[in-house]
Amino acid sequence: MKITCWGCRGSLPTPGSTTVKYGGNTTCFQINSKDGHLIIIDAGSGMRMLGNYLRKNDPRRIIHLLITHAHWDHLMGFPFFMPAYLKNYSIKVKGYIDAHHKLKDIIAHQFESPYFPVDFRVLKSRLEFTELKKKKFKIGNVSIETIRLNHPNGGFGFKFRENGKAFVFLTDNELTYNHGSKMNRCDFIEFCQDADLLIHDAQYLESEYNHFNRGWGHSTFDDAFELGRDAGVRRLGFCHHDQERNDRDLDAIEKKYARISGRMKCFVVKEHDTYTV
Ligand SMILES: [Zn+2]
Ligand SMILES: [Zn+2]
Repeated sequence: MKITCWGCRGSLPTPGSTTVKYGGNTTCFQINSKDGHLIIIDAGSGMRMLGNYLRKNDPRRIIHLLITHAHWDHLMGFPFFMPAYLKNYSIKVKGYIDAHHKLKDIIAHQFESPYFPVDFRVLKSRLEFTELKKKKFKIGNVSIETIRLNHPNGGFGFKFRENGKAFVFLTDNELTYNHGSKMNRCDFIEFCQDADLLIHDAQYLESEYNHFNRGWGHSTFDDAFELGRDAGVRRLGFCHHDQERNDRDLDAIEKKYARISGRMKCFVVKEHDTYTV
């Protein structure tokens, strides 16, 4: 699998001269499986550039889109994803369910008046919505397992396996707080066990995580690091960078964890980087 990051910023897009290196777009990742499938995780603001890239450089017309959860920063790019407007594309959306909202309504809501000027019915692509009920499913040769996130309003993390390699994606996951998912640290360690690559939420420094933001649904760098280490992960990428974190801060964080990481390689996820597992 090749995983390309089109957005790794948390909560809010952060354009500007201090976020050029790691990027300012919110969550969007592209997976190219070895057997030729195109999977996108989340529809954050990075999805706009991905759509443009696909139209210019990629002849594939079937897109699998997995949604971790329905918070703005993970959906706001969808109305700007040009393939959704074109009739030669088929977009198979899978993801988040809760008792109150349907997946299709969550996407369509992005186009609702008075928040957006274009009606959802203008989209000409073939859109198909599947609400995740089973823990495991497949896209081609890639087997995908889900886990409930520790996050306000819930959501899903994903483990992708192909040809014996595993990539785990856990964003918006607060490892030390119970949001009602009933998932604890042991569940996440088991889920991540021996993964070749784990990309995990690391929004806060230890010094920033306090009574104010505890319960907002995000982890610290140390919590993500300890999860990766205890699960025997080979590579750990810190992700969902706080909107206040600049390139200099992230450089320093990457250096710090590179020094203490031991066998596990640690890095800060960067927009436009590609990771192979
Ligand atoms: Zn988020
Ligand atoms: Zn969230």
